[in-house]
Amino acid sequence: MRYCFGVDIGGTTVKMGVFHFDGTLIEKWEIETRKENHGEMILPDVADSIREKMENHNLDKEAVLGVGVGIPAPVTEAGVVQATANLGWGYKEVKHELETLVGIPVKVGNDANVAALGEMWKGGGFGHKNMVMVTLGTGVGGGIISNGHMVVGGHGAGGEIGHICVNYEETEKCGCGNRGCLEQYASATGIVRLAKKRLAENDDETVLRNEEVSAKTVFDAVKENDAVAIEIAKEFGKYLGYALANLAAAVDPEIVVIGGGVSKAGTILLDYIIESFMERVFFANKECRFELARLGNDAGIYGAAKLILE
Ligand SMILES: [Zn+2]
Repeated sequence: MRYCFGVDIGGTTVKMGVFHFDGTLIEKWEIETRKENHGEMILPDVADSIREKMENHNLDKEAVLGVGVGIPAPVTEAGVVQATANLGWGYKEVKHELETLVGIPVKVGNDANVAALGEMWKGGGFGHKNMVMVTLGTGVGGGIISNGHMVVGGHGAGGEIGHICVNYEETEKCGCGNRGCLEQYASATGIVRLAKKRLAENDDETVLRNEEVSAKTVFDAVKENDAVAIEIAKEFGKYLGYALANLAAAVDPEIVVIGGGVSKAGTILLDYIIESFMERVFFANKECRFELARLGNDAGIYGAAKLILE
């Protein structure tokens, strides 16, 4: 019982890794996510790939503690999903099905929660047990770790920070159907939305008018001291910083880890979040620190392995 597998199932690829029980990643690889026929081949493909690697590394079933899996959907503690937008699955007993296929114990979690666990274990949250992770990508993902464990919740939907309402007056709809979700302001697409709105307000000179606006061009312009870009970054920081201050009042994190494509802007991004966070945070939560995520796309496989090793 000295090895485990970490599996991160995404909409286009399944990332996989085999780990020694001390946390060392021995090998990582990817396979295609075959979504046809309601994704019926996804779990069998994962099982085949695990068996193949066990043969390559001369591991029998007794040598493997288990397989941890992250999935892009709410997942209950029992490893059951109701539906996934990205994989084509309806109701699915993922834990049970994969255990039957590989004959090894399986644990399943939501991919964002699992990534948070990975960052706590080996990344930006290293050394902490109470952590909030926010992933700023096309959407806003989140994971909450409380006393070393993922907050899964009663419906497998714990940690959905992107859908906290931060603007009661919003008229446009979020992808989830609600209005005023954090995701509408703090994701890569949200930042573009804020930028376009700001650019339409008047004719103020800014480099942002020279090319297609993206989260990257906004923060590149911030680094060049562009006044309009700085206003946009402040607005972004306010939405995210206030939301995190509210969240801190509930979960009291030691550390907030910011990941996802937008976080490639670097520590300047944290400056804007921290400034607003400090304006609104409850006094007893003030010691909270902020870090950038460190594991990138590997956070999922590390967290999935940690599901087994915790
Ligand atoms: Zn939403």
